[in-house]
Amino acid sequence: MQSFTSAVADRPDPASPHLPWSSGMQALGPSFFTPTPPTPMGAAHWVSQNRALGQALGLPDAFWDDPLSLQALSGNAVWPGSVPVASVYSGHQFGVWAGQLGDGRALSLGEIDSPLGRQDWQLKGAGPTPYSRRGDGRAVLRSSIREYLCSEAMHGLGIPTTRALALTASGLPVWRESQETAAVVTRVAPCFIRFGHFEHFASLGDWDSVKRLLTQLLDQHFPDIAQQQLPIEQACLQWLQTVTERTAQMVAQWQGVGFCHGVMNTDNMSVLGLTLDYGPFQFLDAYDPDHICNHSDHQGRYAFQRQPQVAFWNLYCLGQAVAPLVGETEPVLEALNTYKTALPHALLSQWRKKLGLISAATEDAELAQAALDLLSAGAVDFTIFWRRLSHAVLNSHGQSNDAAAWAPVRDLFLDAAAWADWQQRYTARLRTQDRAQTGVAMLRANPKYVLRNHLGETAIRMAQAGDFSEVDNLLALLRHPFDEHPDSEHRAGFPPDWASTIAISCSS
Ligand code: AMP
Ligand code: MG
Repeated sequence: MQSFTSAVADRPDPASPHLPWSSGMQALGPSFFTPTPPTPMGAAHWVSQNRALGQALGLPDAFWDDPLSLQALSGNAVWPGSVPVASVYSGHQFGVWAGQLGDGRALSLGEIDSPLGRQDWQLKGAGPTPYSRRGDGRAVLRSSIREYLCSEAMHGLGIPTTRALALTASGLPVWRESQETAAVVTRVAPCFIRFGHFEHFASLGDWDSVKRLLTQLLDQHFPDIAQQQLPIEQACLQWLQTVTERTAQMVAQWQGVGFCHGVMNTDNMSVLGLTLDYGPFQFLDAYDPDHICNHSDHQGRYAFQRQPQVAFWNLYCLGQAVAPLVGETEPVLEALNTYKTALPHALLSQWRKKLGLISAATEDAELAQAALDLLSAGAVDFTIFWRRLSHAVLNSHGQSNDAAAWAPVRDLFLDAAAWADWQQRYTARLRTQDRAQTGVAMLRANPKYVLRNHLGETAIRMAQAGDFSEVDNLLALLRHPFDEHPDSEHRAGFPPDWASTIAISCSS
């Protein structure tokens, strides 16, 4: 397999880039992937280029200046050698079997080897596919900016996610609640296979396809399992356990930064354990465990604190889909039930990191829960609390009565006595630790900047008026969310009053 850089160096005409496309998962062929050309969206322009990701992928700077790059990343052209495809999947939406769904507005262009490993490039919003059902195959600028920025914000936070390479747009009108305009996000990930891909073929009783899908996935993306050349029953169990552990880890990290996904349907769950499909997501402002970020989620199925339980439910759907490959039910349940230990373990290690605790004590889970209860009772800002706590530890240098250092945290709570109580427990727990060192570590665990709704909304409103600068500002900022960035102090504050009026639904 040729690398991108060598292919570019070899190409006769640098104005027509030859990207070394290969098919990985796409080699499964037509019952999984349907060749589907993008539909041009008219005169396209860049909204943002993620040059840092481009560099990590080994793309030369010239890539961004090549007119064909803009055309290909907006669906107006196809690179030589790329065969865009849409895949078929099904899924459970809001707990109910929804039948066949599929890539209604996503097209995989093919895979490219890179220093980050082989990556599938996907256009989201490049027109209808055989799976669009009643949809238009488009994505609006508003939701595309949210997906573009949040993908990179999550990566900056160290949370497994699909990435976003570029954002293009045109004046093409797109109807949602009102008229908006079209945009295309280029997403990049090792693969975009979802729980729903397995559910699809299982629902048809097509076990041969379920087995082919799993075998190809293991070969391409789980080399540790594939190399063992196990019988399919055992390979499937190992894989299921790995997906279970990765999903537990991912969701625990969501909880640790106050990320609410909003639409945890099984078709939005990645079999690689990546955060996938950014729609009505939200980072919590005030801590509310019952927060529902998706205005279309009337039952609160995907409320913030339900996410770990929902992920487990989704894993059960995946387990059910592949169980016939294993034959017996018991070992499948055993693999899935590793979640019952993996999730609390991953969560507790999140809270320990956030609290700066370097050793484990039995009281830690309760200490963390007590802090969350206080935040909830006082509707305290989640991100600001943890960041101020980090500074307080750093600045208090082991003097448990250093009131000035603790004042910024204490001031977040109306119930001063309850706070004082908790602070005393916490400082007692920190007794044997070096405060300065602990504080420094906490500042690397508790971000100063997250993509709050109002930050995204400001970038969206400016972009809708033709100014894309805030998209790039936020992209650069959120890439390093643990750094201070003194120029961005205003992006680290409490949300303005108008933030509570932003309504985020599935409409995108
Ligand atoms: P989501 O919940 O946004 O991940 O989407 C659920 C399903 O609807 C997926 O199959 C999407 O491809 C499809 N979908 C969402 N929006 C559109 C659209 N505008 N056009 C076509 N299909 C869509
Ligand atoms: Mg989806």
